[in-house]
This record gives sequence, C-alpha cells and structure tokens, in this order.
Amino acid sequence: MDCIFCKIVEGSVPSKKVFENEHVVAFHDIQPAAPVHILIIPKKHIASMNDVQQEDWHLLGEVHRAAQHIAAELGIAESGYRLVNNCGKDSGQIVFHIHYHLLGGKPLGPLLAGA
Ligand code: 5GP
Ligand code: ZN
Repeated sequence: MDCIFCKIVEGSVPSKKVFENEHVVAFHDIQPAAPVHILIIPKKHIASMNDVQQEDWHLLGEVHRAAQHIAAELGIAESGYRLVNNCGKDSGQIVFHIHYHLLGGKPLGPLLAGA
C-alpha cells in the first residue's frame, strides 16, 4: 500500500516526531497552518472516519489522549487549541490515513469562517 503516513510510522519517510507509543504517532505537519501544527495518527492504517471499525474506536481515544499530552508538552494547554479531523472530499482530506490536526499557538479565529 502506498500510504505516506504508513511510511512515516515505519520510519521510511522522515518526520519530526513529537510523540509515539504503542498505538499512536504524532509529528509536525510539513506545511504548518499555525505556530503549533501537529498531526496525530493511529499506527494502524484506517483510511478515514468512514472506515473506523468497531475494534478501532479505542485508537481514536488514544489519539485524543495523545493530543492532551502533546498540548501540555508544547505549552498550549492553557492558551487553547483545536483538534480537527477531515473526512472525505468536501472536507479537503488529502491523505487517506486517518489523522487529527492539533492546532494552536495563536488565536485561531472562528471555526466556520469561510464555511
Ligand atoms: P488533510 O487535508 O488530509 O486533513 O491534511 C493532510 C496534512 O498532511 C496536510 O496538512 C499536509 O501538509 C500534511 N502532509 C502531507 N504530506 C506530509 C508529509 O509527507 N509529512 C508531513 N509531516 N506532513 C504531510
Ligand atoms: Zn496508512
């Protein structure tokens, strides 16, 4: 399977990792949209939110747990942050390995601006 995020999990594509455990990896987005822009992914290849199976839900809990931890580590827990998942064409999802964007480090503006 030709998945860029699976390659980041394996280490065959380099990334600036900020967190890793048994289930989850987190790394800096290559094109940051905010001063803090981290991508958090399950190691398991799941294409999108539409493809999450019953046995996978705990992995999304792990992603949220990692987000809480990373936000604290990177100093944005108090100032605040946004955790975003894009699913499918209308959302603009471009990488089909489920991921959450952790964004912060500045006021992010209204979520629905431009919607
Ligand atoms: P999406 O629109 O699918 O939710 O966002 C995918 C994100 O992955 C984009 O913000 C893009 O900059 C990031 N991205 C794509 N390819 C790579 C890569 O090879 N390395 C890293 N670190 N980020 C990537
Ligand atoms: Zn993958």
